[in-house]
Amino acid sequence: MECFRMLTIPVIGKNCVLEKGELLGGAGKRAAVITGKFSAVASGALDDIRAVLEKFDISYTVIAKAENNPHLENVAVIAKEAKEAGADHIIGIGGGSAMDAAKAAAVLCTNDISPDMLFKDSIKADPLPVYAIPTTAGTGSEVTPYSVLTVKGKETKLSFGDNRMFPRVAFLDHRYTRTMGRATTVDTAFDAFSHAFEGYISKRATRTAGILAIESMKIFFASLPELYGECISEKVREELLYASMLAGMVISQTGTTALHSMGYALTYNKGIPHGRANGLLFCAYYMELMKENRRKLEELTKKLGLGEVEEPMEKIKKLFPEKLDLGMEEKEKYVEDTLKQKSLAYTPAKLDHDTILRIFENKGK
Ligand code: ZN
Repeated sequence: MECFRMLTIPVIGKNCVLEKGELLGGAGKRAAVITGKFSAVASGALDDIRAVLEKFDISYTVIAKAENNPHLENVAVIAKEAKEAGADHIIGIGGGSAMDAAKAAAVLCTNDISPDMLFKDSIKADPLPVYAIPTTAGTGSEVTPYSVLTVKGKETKLSFGDNRMFPRVAFLDHRYTRTMGRATTVDTAFDAFSHAFEGYISKRATRTAGILAIESMKIFFASLPELYGECISEKVREELLYASMLAGMVISQTGTTALHSMGYALTYNKGIPHGRANGLLFCAYYMELMKENRRKLEELTKKLGLGEVEEPMEKIKKLFPEKLDLGMEEKEKYVEDTLKQKSLAYTPAKLDHDTILRIFENKGK
């Protein structure tokens, strides 16, 4: 049996917030607009949202407090402000951090629970409706039911999800991603690629998700010539945002695999941006996957119009040429943390202590 869960209406294209603003019109009477500190304003997305909310006579409070890799205390503060403002719906504008904080706040506004309970299946009441506007092209959070938060006690990032957390509408206007510099564009593009790739090879892969994953990965490889350089064209930004949305739809079906779990360790402990952390580990991970899945990966490279099965590694090595240099103690700790993650069960490779250690030692580079 296969089911495709997708409860978000994606609206894609230049000026889509202004042109399809009526989709927000019936959202409610009072919005909490949750953003980070920079991109919502700089990209022009916040101005567009203000115009639509005013047009439809919806009052609103802007809460520009979502931090990078938001932790539980951060979402608790945001939820408290949204609740006090009497919000009946939430609009999240920004990268994955702002959208994930928006989703978590939407749950905390209607469920009287402490934030750490979010990971314990304790969402009883329906969360406030969420509307999402990405300003990066990578997370796919605008079309997923997940929120990824930093958990200090566990020293990593953890995700939780619920079908009721799918944003109602995702407005995807690539012009909002123009404020990203090259490094963030590359890191987030790789995050989207890793979603598509991991969804494709996951033990939870589905036929429909596979079609979307292939299309998303094709766009990533076609965009590489510009991602290697300094200048990213408007056309490629548009394509990358689309690829990121497709990859988000993929992980809504499959979840991610051990690559994400390992990447979380680098982000939490070393502050390496999420997509880059995955990128730095990718080649070694791919080499481990090849041991048991060579035929599947050969098939994949063929579908992507690439040559040899090693070609994805060559291309990605060029995107992230730097080497990871971790101390023995650090590596051992990250291995232990990774071994606790449930995503290991969905990874089509035997990932024991030594295999994971090899990946952190970056033997693929
Ligand atoms: Zn990711």
